[in-house]
Amino acid sequence: MKRQWGLYLHIPFCRQKCFYCDFPSFAGRERYEADYTDALCRELLEQGVLYREKWGRPATIYMGGGTPSILPVALMEHLLQTVCRVFALTGDEDSSELEFTVECNPGTVDAEKLTLLRSYGVNRLSFGVQTFDDGLLRAIGRIHTGQQAKEAMQLAREAGFRNVSMDLMYGLPHESLAVLRHDLETMIALKPEHISIYGLQLEEGTAFYRMKELGRLALPDEETVEQMYDLMTSFLPAHGYARYEISNFARPGYESRHNLSYWQDVPYLGVGAAAHSYLEGRRYANGVDIPAYIRAMQAGGSVREEEEPADRAIAMEEFAFLALRTSQGLSREAFFKRFAVSLERIYSKTIHEMKQKGLLEEQDGCLRLTPLGMKYGNLVFEAFLLT
Ligand code: SF4
Repeated sequence: MKRQWGLYLHIPFCRQKCFYCDFPSFAGRERYEADYTDALCRELLEQGVLYREKWGRPATIYMGGGTPSILPVALMEHLLQTVCRVFALTGDEDSSELEFTVECNPGTVDAEKLTLLRSYGVNRLSFGVQTFDDGLLRAIGRIHTGQQAKEAMQLAREAGFRNVSMDLMYGLPHESLAVLRHDLETMIALKPEHISIYGLQLEEGTAFYRMKELGRLALPDEETVEQMYDLMTSFLPAHGYARYEISNFARPGYESRHNLSYWQDVPYLGVGAAAHSYLEGRRYANGVDIPAYIRAMQAGGSVREEEEPADRAIAMEEFAFLALRTSQGLSREAFFKRFAVSLERIYSKTIHEMKQKGLLEEQDGCLRLTPLGMKYGNLVFEAFLLT
């Protein structure tokens, strides 16, 4: 039976660990790159073929990390050849048939790599830019400069990419509103089709978290961060980027289909160390350890483990949060289809309260965050907790 699904490939290598990052990515593990790529191809051959036979070709492929663009050309080509082989791709697929994204760090791309990606049918790039300010880039542990980010965009266009996303961060140490304004202006002058914006979060285990504990991290105050939020949420729509999810803005028709599918309860297969999968209503996670992953694949085994099945209440909460993040919102019909109980029966009091506070609105059977609700999303999500 053909059905919509997505494929995620995880590349866990980075040249240096950014100070804010708590993703499953590691610096100084270059020695594993070749064996890891082989292992990834094995998992892909096994699992990818299984799901292709079940559901047909995935609608979206996303190579993330880590830093996929860190892979040397020969390894990247090996991996892309395997992807094409498993899914019988020619590299000429129309982007409406297949959205194929690769995350890139502006410090690890060149014309040769980008041309290679394009020649194997990659049709969307996502650059981690974060800021164009070199002082700030150093302060957050990025390996590239603002100029390299601009050059990366030019190289991408020259290689034929017509769908490019850029990530921007705000609320960074010592960052001012003027710096963010300059970043936004610089970014839109580069004309990416998609922009993701993230406020700095201090996650446990990161260098920034430790610095904060030691009192050595000077962050903008709350009022400034709020002004930054207001600036970006007004600036981007005014320049043609519609907000279709809490952190994501796109020109019409360039919303990330892969990310939307995560928020819309579409199944996905994740391959690679630390990759997550959501298949036939169950969630799985691959182990994070790179050598263990390689050994398991070489031995013909697996590192995929089923996560504790979420109880029904948690599954409902998750379903609500993920849908509410998007501009499409939470559909009453979709909720009923998934849980065989009406949204009203579970959440009538919450919905009423959130509407009263101006945080939630409803149209055509879909509940959506208002602009105020987007700003204070955490309040809404908290109210939707059942456990
Ligand atoms: S490049 Fe990306 S994945 Fe790697 S450490 Fe930095 S933020 Fe994390």
